[in-house]
Amino acid sequence: MSGKQGWHHSPTEALKVGPGFSLADFDPGATPGWHGGKADAEAEMTRRGADLDALQEQLFARGKEGDTRSVLLVLQGVDSAGKDGIVSHVVGLVNPMGVKITGFGVPTEEERKHDYLWRIRNALPSAGQVGVFDRSHYEQLLVVRVHNLVPPATWETYYDQINAFEAEVAAAGTTIVKCALLISPAEQLRRLEARLDDPSKYWKYNPKDLDERGNWNEYQAAYQAIFDRCSPAAAPWYAIPGDAKWYARLAVTELLAAAMEGLGLTWPAATFDVAAEKVRIASLDPDAPEAPPATKPGPR
Ligand code: AMP
Ligand code: MG
Repeated sequence: MSGKQGWHHSPTEALKVGPGFSLADFDPGATPGWHGGKADAEAEMTRRGADLDALQEQLFARGKEGDTRSVLLVLQGVDSAGKDGIVSHVVGLVNPMGVKITGFGVPTEEERKHDYLWRIRNALPSAGQVGVFDRSHYEQLLVVRVHNLVPPATWETYYDQINAFEAEVAAAGTTIVKCALLISPAEQLRRLEARLDDPSKYWKYNPKDLDERGNWNEYQAAYQAIFDRCSPAAAPWYAIPGDAKWYARLAVTELLAAAMEGLGLTWPAATFDVAAEKVRIASLDPDAPEAPPATKPGPR
């Protein structure tokens, strides 16, 4: 293997949570698979972002002509893990027209009237869309579990329910990419502190986040249980080291692009005679907006 910068090991392999994955042994400061630094990553983001943009447009175009497939990016992570940054810097690389982004907070009164998957189902991407969940149904196995917002015997049933739900979503044509942004406690403290130094970040600071930090080990155990029990082949988890924001963004860009390449998308063929349309256009006077000569019906 050469020393050239770039992905030397695909993140689809390097970051996938497999049997025996141990969060306790995970290094949030590592940059697995990537040879190079931040500047190299920025160049790669530009290159891969263009691919992602084209892939999303192909998915959208195919959706318009009846392809029912879609993509769902699920983002999880503790406060300040970088979920918002993924939405703006990765999802922001594609045309917002075909993207459906939903953030999940404390359930509203309306949401509480339904089962916990109701709001999730409502937010699923339609045919041709890229859906993004900023937090998700996994909060049932994170905040709800850590705080026993329902009895343990109840949240214990959620693992199987969520697996069944995701299997149904995948079978209906949605490619699911689940990304856990994993930061170190030290990095979280730095980020929370930085928010207090910047009035434009106050709105992101919640004094409760500091208290929640006290449950760090419980959250680690909750993530480990999710990785152990909710990692089917059709809806894998990717464990993304999040301390270096540039790495996490690069990795999610690559994971999303690779997942979309796996769909084998191509541009829809013309539903008209391209050559004949060129002839019609060539026959027109650029300055006279009159109708062109009559055309023969196209091939479809
Ligand atoms: P933020 O992502 O900063 O807007 O915060 C959203 C908050 O909503 C987090 O504290 C989540 O833990 C919380 N939250 C999300 N889903 C649920 C849920 N199902 N039950 C309780 N709290 C939730
Ligand atoms: Mg927050």
